[in-house]
Amino acid sequence: MKEALFGKTLNELITVTKDAGLPGFTAHQIADWMYKKGVREIEGMTNLSKKARGYLGERFETGLTSHIAVETSEDGTKKYLFPAGDKGTVEAAWIPESDRSTLCISTQVGCRMGCRFCMTGMQGFQGNLSVTEILNQVESLPEKDLLTNIVYMGMGEPLDNTESVLTSIEILTAEWGYAMSPRRITLSTIGLKDSVRRFLDKSQAHLAISLHSPFAEERHNLMPAETAHPVKEVIDLIREYDWSGQRRISFEYIMFKDINDRDSDIRGLLKLLNGLHCRVNLIRFHAVPGTPYLSSPGERITEFRDRLTAGGIFTTIRASRGEDIHAACGLLSTRLKSEG
Ligand code: SF4
Repeated sequence: MKEALFGKTLNELITVTKDAGLPGFTAHQIADWMYKKGVREIEGMTNLSKKARGYLGERFETGLTSHIAVETSEDGTKKYLFPAGDKGTVEAAWIPESDRSTLCISTQVGCRMGCRFCMTGMQGFQGNLSVTEILNQVESLPEKDLLTNIVYMGMGEPLDNTESVLTSIEILTAEWGYAMSPRRITLSTIGLKDSVRRFLDKSQAHLAISLHSPFAEERHNLMPAETAHPVKEVIDLIREYDWSGQRRISFEYIMFKDINDRDSDIRGLLKLLNGLHCRVNLIRFHAVPGTPYLSSPGERITEFRDRLTAGGIFTTIRASRGEDIHAACGLLSTRLKSEG
């Protein structure tokens, strides 16, 4: 099998061209073709010498693959399914809005974290996506030219695949890569402390922590990984960084009826996040087959937001998108798997 060129950093491309005895600037040309001009075949890199294209074509391919299924929601959200080698398939959700267009990408096939409200968590774990497979969701997106924001919030726990995820962010933000502002990228994690530190030190992208309960024991009931990765320790770590500038820290909070939407939860959140320059995003729960959870009623979500805001925490309610096409992560691929 040929090795993929797409997904290599400039340094890695320099190694490839050095090994081939090609001139140093060839690596820049290849990066330019792949990350700026969107060329999908080595043959299309027309300013490379015939010899260079011949050498590369014998040993490499770009590694890009088109989507194999798509579903479109009434609200314009689209879910694309991409192949991920022998690991299976992954989803990417395209969410157009009036002022921005966001792509939600996956980082693993399945997930090891086992969150009890999540379809991906129930699928088990099939493997990590490579850098090529992570960025293929961006490059092979039919609406790529309209893209303004990327969120690492699809299938998988991004910081359980830290090296590939950090490299993908490097390629998205580097001048020789996509040259995207890191302020247009958000990584969402349940909070694996050591990897959170690496992410905060190595990139400038925004961070979102999936919180879902201020109380360790109750969070553990929703997210078993809380035991090995206590969120309190991650919040203590986050407090060591400066959040007064443009970089944003936010907390995702899915609202489950009678589970984490009580007055005691409001008090717990105000205490846990006290003094931290952050925002909380409240998310209405999309019903997931096979789970006992219900979404909090709309009025309770509004009240919850107002009380957190009154307590000094900037709180928003995330609009629900793509519910009719099962935009909760993992649903599309699970369905295709069971049908296949
Ligand atoms: S919510 Fe995220 S971290 Fe939890 S099981 Fe699902 S994909 Fe994994």
